[in-house]
Amino acid sequence: MEIEKDNELMEKIVSLAKRRGFVFQGSEIYGGLAGTWDYGPLGAELSHNIKDLWWDFFVRKHEENYGLASSVLMPEPVWEASGHLEGFADPMVECEKCKRRFRADHLEEVTEDSSKCPECGGAFGEEKAFSQLFPVEMGSVEGSKVNAYLRGEIAQGMFVNFKNVLDTMRPKLPFGIAQIGKAFRNEIAPREFLFRVREFDLMEFEYFTREEEWEEHFEKWRKEMWEWIDLVGITRDSTHELEVSEKDRAHYSKRTIDFEFDYPFGRKELYGLAYRTDHDLKKHMEHSKVDLRYTDDEGERFIPHVIEPSFGLGRTVLAVLVSAYREDEIGGEKRVYLAFKPSVAPIKAAVFPLMKNKPELQTKAREVYKDLKKAIPQIMFDDNGNVGKRYRRQDEIGTPFCITIDFDTLEDDTVTVRNRDTAEQERIQISELEPYIKEQIETKK
Ligand code: ATP
Repeated sequence: MEIEKDNELMEKIVSLAKRRGFVFQGSEIYGGLAGTWDYGPLGAELSHNIKDLWWDFFVRKHEENYGLASSVLMPEPVWEASGHLEGFADPMVECEKCKRRFRADHLEEVTEDSSKCPECGGAFGEEKAFSQLFPVEMGSVEGSKVNAYLRGEIAQGMFVNFKNVLDTMRPKLPFGIAQIGKAFRNEIAPREFLFRVREFDLMEFEYFTREEEWEEHFEKWRKEMWEWIDLVGITRDSTHELEVSEKDRAHYSKRTIDFEFDYPFGRKELYGLAYRTDHDLKKHMEHSKVDLRYTDDEGERFIPHVIEPSFGLGRTVLAVLVSAYREDEIGGEKRVYLAFKPSVAPIKAAVFPLMKNKPELQTKAREVYKDLKKAIPQIMFDDNGNVGKRYRRQDEIGTPFCITIDFDTLEDDTVTVRNRDTAEQERIQISELEPYIKEQIETKK
């Protein structure tokens, strides 16, 4: 289904992200490097929160799931075995006139007549495969250089360490190996902000199971993926499952469900859930000559099958931003705010002295701020402009609570806590602040 494109919304989000320190163009002062984006101070907090939530939800809460942090650089034989050297390519066409390149399978999306260049109307040459892997030459001595690649997916880190995890942790089937880390793809046409980039973080696990049990585990993780979508604050109604047809599936997959999201630029992939069979372990066993079989309690040796839930961090950040973006009116004035869940909000609470130039308010506010920051690190101090302006600034970065220290505070140790979504204020004892905010973070998860 085609959804209505909302370029204006996308522009507002990109501009807010830049203006408020969430996301900057990579290497911007040198004109920017296409397909790279840098997280600014607030984006870094937001993405750390998302990664932490993911790690807790999918790794630490499951006793059979194990963490991993493997290298970005992996030698050519890994990619030969996995099939990426041959199969990880996009069909590409080049315009004979302006020499611009386009993904053949995306042309219909960007132009009405896919036989002509959308930029200059020129004719296309023959379709060619274009590898997405980034090659790297390792070592400095000629003749002893190693051909390596920046990993195109993080899954291969899990497969090449399968035996190490088996030998050290002695897990029983079914079990998972998970990691969060960078992947690199030489995309022909990076675009749509964080959606299609050349360097991105993935959060992913390989869940190893007996072949006959793959469907059961596929269903289990499919349900947990929906729970995650709620947990992180992605609008459920804007998320849709798509059963990927055989011709569109990756070379290793026997079944794939894409979780698609209604981005302002259209409905596109957010996450993937794939049944990778025993393809990868089998190929690595053939190529490395290392026995990668699992031995069960009866002494039977076999290669387990794999279910892979895969989550792009950048696409998550984008979907969370789109889901949280709100415009409303308070007291006749328009406001923009990000309705982040408290658990993902980069700043949980901001502390203000009612007036900047009253030393007794400053001292008290600093004290409250310092104490609170010890218990909840993502706290900000702000004394710029008037309180109304500070509320607007905090609303725009999605801070759920603003705490104001006023003259009454000096008398009775109470403060005003203002709620981002309702703009309502309540009076709370300073000693209650920490449990109050912590409870909100927990219950709104
Ligand atoms: P697409 O069809 O959009 O190119 P894909 O099917 O190649 O994606 P997978 O190989 O399934 O993607 O990658 C797993 C996840 O990694 C995706 O669900 C997505 O969240 C993320 N991802 C893939 N490619 C990119 C990219 N170029 N930029 C940002 N995130 C990406």
